[in-house]
Amino acid sequence: MYLRSLTLKGFKSFPHRTRLEFGPGISVIVGPNGSGKSNITDAVLWALGEQSPLAVRGQTMRDVLFAGGAGVPSASVAEVEVVIDNSDGRLQSDFSEISIVRRLHRSGEGEYRLNGARCRLADVLEVLSDTGLGKEMHSVVSQGRVEQIVMSRPRERRLVIEEAAGLGKHRKRRHRAQLKLERTRANLERLLDIEREARTRLRPRRRPPGARRPFPGRRSCRAPPRPFPLGLSPSSWRP
Ligand code: ATP
Repeated sequence: MYLRSLTLKGFKSFPHRTRLEFGPGISVIVGPNGSGKSNITDAVLWALGEQSPLAVRGQTMRDVLFAGGAGVPSASVAEVEVVIDNSDGRLQSDFSEISIVRRLHRSGEGEYRLNGARCRLADVLEVLSDTGLGKEMHSVVSQGRVEQIVMSRPRERRLVIEEAAGLGKHRKRRHRAQLKLERTRANLERLLDIEREARTRLRPRRRPPGARRPFPGRRSCRAPPRPFPLGLSPSSWRP
């Protein structure tokens, strides 16, 4: 599995469609200061779902759109495609290539695509968590980040090591499961409130006029009120 290609259009200093192809092993991008080398790593990070403008060296996310210059008008859309080669089948996917596209319009509207199909950011992150790539996976280590990791506190360094070891994916799943449990608990409490409310409205049945009284001294064998079944409206419920 390796990064096969990166295509940029309207992203930072790349107003025109620019495709970079990579092979297995190490690739090096060389260029003078300010020629756009870091914009390339920004593009990878951005396409993989980065949500912080600061992480891609901007103030707002719109700063990734080509701002115009040298007779070229500013871009109305920024688009980056990352293609990951999976011909060795390391990823659990039927595809030999995984294409991730992220687009951002100047209006603020954005979209993601996985192998051409429109998807949510969560789907991209899910695929990436299986690849070991992604925002917190240390697949992109920018200038100064190594120093930051070395100087960080033990707890922060532990998180970095856990992410690199692939534990982050399970931590995120646990967090999602906990949120679901909390929502279910809240729903259950609401239902119990409704049940309690419905019970207060239930009255014991009146004896019709002329009906015989129960034999004196004999215990009533009327069953206690049954619980209010979920899904039945209070008005339709008869004990
Ligand atoms: P260094 O080696 O100094 O770190 P670099 O090669 O990594 O530099 P980058 O920082 O990637 O260079 O690119 C900086 C260039 O990108 C600047 O010329 C800047 O004007 C240009 N640039 C950044 N954002 C945009 C944008 N939104 N629109 C147009 N150009 C941009």
